[in-house]
Amino acid sequence: MVSELKTLVTFFGATGDLAKRKLYPSVFNLFKKGYLQEHFAIVGTARQDLTEDEFKQLVRDSIAGAAEDKAQAEAFIEHFSYRAHDVTDAASYDVLKSAIEEASDKFGIEGNRIFYMSVAPRFFGTIAKYLKSEGLLATTGYNRLMIEKPFGTSYETAEKLQSELENAFDDDQLFRIDHYLGKEMVQNIAALRFGNPIFDAAWNKDYIKNVQVTLSEVLGVEERAGYYDTAGALLDMIQNHTMQIVGWLAMEKPDSFTDKDIRAAKNAAFNALKIYNEEEVNKYFVRGQYAGGDSAEFKPYLEEMDVPADSKNNTYIAGELQFDLPRWEGVPFYVRSGKRLAAKQTRIDIVFKAGTFQFGAAQEAQEAILSILVDPTGGIEFKINSKSVEDDFNTRLIGLDWQVSEEDKLNTPEPYERMIHDTMNGDGSNFADWNGVAIAWKFVDAISAVYAADKAPLETYKSGSMGPAAADKLLANNGDAWVFKG
Ligand code: NAD
Repeated sequence: MVSELKTLVTFFGATGDLAKRKLYPSVFNLFKKGYLQEHFAIVGTARQDLTEDEFKQLVRDSIAGAAEDKAQAEAFIEHFSYRAHDVTDAASYDVLKSAIEEASDKFGIEGNRIFYMSVAPRFFGTIAKYLKSEGLLATTGYNRLMIEKPFGTSYETAEKLQSELENAFDDDQLFRIDHYLGKEMVQNIAALRFGNPIFDAAWNKDYIKNVQVTLSEVLGVEERAGYYDTAGALLDMIQNHTMQIVGWLAMEKPDSFTDKDIRAAKNAAFNALKIYNEEEVNKYFVRGQYAGGDSAEFKPYLEEMDVPADSKNNTYIAGELQFDLPRWEGVPFYVRSGKRLAAKQTRIDIVFKAGTFQFGAAQEAQEAILSILVDPTGGIEFKINSKSVEDDFNTRLIGLDWQVSEEDKLNTPEPYERMIHDTMNGDGSNFADWNGVAIAWKFVDAISAVYAADKAPLETYKSGSMGPAAADKLLANNGDAWVFKG
C-alpha cells in the first residue's frame, strides 16, 4: 500500500546538471507511484536569475522522457517554485525563506523539510549554517539534509565539514549520499547474507578464503583531469564507493534491520579496519597509471588533456584490507578500481575455501565462488563443485547463474529515487554514516601520505588490460588470484 508522504524539498543547485539529469526525474517517479500526491512542494534555488516559468520549463524538459501523460506531468510541475539566491549571502536567505513558507502553506505541508545540497562541496557548511541562523528550518515535523559527494578531501577536511554541519543539524538528520549504496545489487548483499542461513553461517574465516571488490572502468580521464589529477582512483572510487560496499560485506550481523542497528554492525567492522604504516602501504597496496594501448584512441594518461606531464596520479589502485575481528581473522578483502581497464564492471567475488575431502585419486575440489554482479548487468553467479562426466571421479566447477530480468530492470528505482524516498522516510540504512566515512578517510589518508611523498612505486599498465602485474602479485603472495580477469 502506497501512502502519501508530506514533504517540502529545497534543491540547492536547482539548475545544475545533477538536478536536471537525476533529481527531478527521481522526484517525478515518486509522484507517479503515489508517494507524493497533494501535500508536497519543491523549491528550487540557484544563482541563475530565472523566472518561475523558465524554471518550470527546465523541470518539464528534465522529466520529458518519463512524461507519457502530459496532464500528470503538469500537475507535478505545479508543485515547483524557484528563487535565485547566492548561498554565500546571508541576507538573501530571506528570499528563500519566504518561498519555502509560501509553498508550505499552499500545499498544506506543516514542517517536514528536506534540504538537498546539489552544489559544490565548498558550500555545504555555509548552507547548513545559514539554514539555521536565518530561520529556514521547520519548527514542526522534521528537518533533513541530503549531502552530495565528496564529503571532504581528507580526514581533516571531512571532520571540519562534519562539525560545521553538526552546528546546525543532529547527526541523524544528515543523509550523506553515496549513490553506490542506492544500487539494487549492493542492497542485495543484505538479502543474500541475512536471508540465507547457508551464507549467514558461512560468512566468516572458517569458510571464506578472500573477498574481492572490483570497480573497473573502460573510460580514461576524458575532460576531468582538473579534478581527477588531484583525486585519483584512491579518492574518486576507493575512499567512498568501494569502502561503503566493503561495509556491507564485512559488517557484523545487525540486531535488527533498522538504520541504527545496520550502522552499529557496519561500524563494528570499520572500527576494526587496520590502518597501514608506510611499509604496510607498500606491502598491501599497488598504485598504477595507464600507459597507451593497442588502440590508437588509448593515449597514455600523461598525454591526456590537462594532465601535467610529470603527474604521478594513480589511475588504478589495488589493495588488501584487513579487519582485526574474530570473524575475519586472516581473511583478506581485496579491492581494486581503475580507469582504462578491460571491462566496465562493478562486482563482488566471495571466494570460499576449497573442501579437503579426499575422493581417492581424483582431482581435489576447488574454491566455490559467489559473485554479486552490480553493474552493468545485475546478477548473481555461484560456482560450486560438481562431478565431471569422465570415467574417473573428478570434480569440476559448475555455475548456478541468475540475471536481473528486463522486467526487474524496468521496475528497479534509480539510486537517486531510492535515496530521496529513503530520506523522506527518515531511513538512513543506505547512506554513509560519519564514523564509517571518518575511518575510510583515515585509512586512505595513510596511503595518500605515502604516495604524496613518492615513497611507493608507480606501476604502469597497458590501457585495455586489467591493471599492473604487481596487482596480480599482491594476491599471488597469499596464494590467491583475481576472479574477474576482464
Ligand atoms: P553544476 O555545476 O552543474 O551545478 C551547480 C549548481 O550550483 C548550479 O545550479 C549553480 O547555479 C549553483 N550554484 C553555484 N554557485 C552558487 C552560489 N554561490 N549560490 C547558489 N547557487 C550556486 O554541478 P552538478 O554537476 O549538478 O553537481 C552538484 C553536486 O552534485 C556537486 O557536489 C557534485 O559533486 C555532485 N554530484 C554530481 C554528479 C553529476 O552527475 N553531475 C554526480 C554525483 C555527484
